[in-house]
Amino acid sequence: MSLSTSGVETPRPAERLVLMNPGPVMTHPEVRKALSGPDLCHREQEFSNLMMEVRSKVVEITGGTAEYRSVVLTGSGTSAVEAIIASAVPEAGKLLVLDNGHYGHRMFTIARAYNIPTISLSFGWCGEIDLARVESMLAHDSGITHVAVVHHETSTGMLNDIREVARIASKYSAETIIDAVSSVGAEEIVLTTDKAIWLAGSSNKCLEGMPGLSFVIASQESLESLSTRKQRSFSLDLNRHYRAQEKLKTPAFTPSIPAFYAFNTALDLAIAEGVKGRFNRYENLAIILRTGLRSLGLEILIPEGQRAVSLTAVKIPVGCTYQALHTTLRVAGFVIYAAQEQLELDYFRLSTMGQMDEHDIRKFLEVLRQYILRGEHS
Ligand SMILES: *Cc1c(COP(=O)(O)O)cnc(C)c1O
Repeated sequence: MSLSTSGVETPRPAERLVLMNPGPVMTHPEVRKALSGPDLCHREQEFSNLMMEVRSKVVEITGGTAEYRSVVLTGSGTSAVEAIIASAVPEAGKLLVLDNGHYGHRMFTIARAYNIPTISLSFGWCGEIDLARVESMLAHDSGITHVAVVHHETSTGMLNDIREVARIASKYSAETIIDAVSSVGAEEIVLTTDKAIWLAGSSNKCLEGMPGLSFVIASQESLESLSTRKQRSFSLDLNRHYRAQEKLKTPAFTPSIPAFYAFNTALDLAIAEGVKGRFNRYENLAIILRTGLRSLGLEILIPEGQRAVSLTAVKIPVGCTYQALHTTLRVAGFVIYAAQEQLELDYFRLSTMGQMDEHDIRKFLEVLRQYILRGEHS
């Protein structure tokens, strides 16, 4: 119990801090325990074995067939997205970015930073990707070699139809770059052999590992072809990382070894639960959360049927600010997450990723209900 100087009892932070930010997530005790594995040299056989194991489990959890390989990078999710954009688009290539939120726009910004010829199709935040517009763009511009799309647009909670985007892109012989950073592990992804797909993911969202690792998945054929494409980056050169990891079975640079230990355990847990199992677990939490929010009269941003299971963007209660809401909930043991850019003043975000449970969600709703009832914010 903490006392303020006036001797009045001040709210004591709850023991359990429930992370409702969309990653890094609350991890399983086994994952945290794995972090304290032995000190290791990354050029020794032990690390090579660990890295190869993690690489193959990453392909397994993503549903990749035998043709697929992963390249695991030390760096946050953005590194994997950036490594693909910087490495996969050839010198004479052109990128079409589908933008319906913050992360779609980020891919456009990344491509521009490398001076890659890039065009953006904007659907507006929360706007559904109009597949007819995508197709007509590809039909009218035969120079487009790559189409980039976000699977789960974490800025809004919208799930995009990556399967249809990839199908249309391949019809025009374009490759598809998918930012699946906040969906891989919980939302179904089908990697088939007839479409060239580059997928980016990270360790600390729906795969429930520690932050610090990200990965790229592509077919071996696509990865082999990188050596003929333009090298625009040194440390995010996917060709360099692929060759080191695939041919020499060693990382290009010093990796985050503890994050690898933790990720290996997190992948075991994810594989045991299965993507469908994890989807069901997150969906159950999301249903309880969304039903509760609606009963409090709070509006959910994305319509039903277009929502990812792992994130809910919801309207800030009338007369309340995000900061006040954040402080009250933080003291009660819940970390909520601000919305970005044009949604920042009116919405906040609640993730249902990671090791939270039904009890956490019900308690969260009760704290929020009492806060709104007290009306102390107005
Ligand atoms: C979290 C996230 C990223 C990457 O964020 P990092 O902070 O670099 O890990 C990229 N795309 C999407 C869709 C995300 O949700």
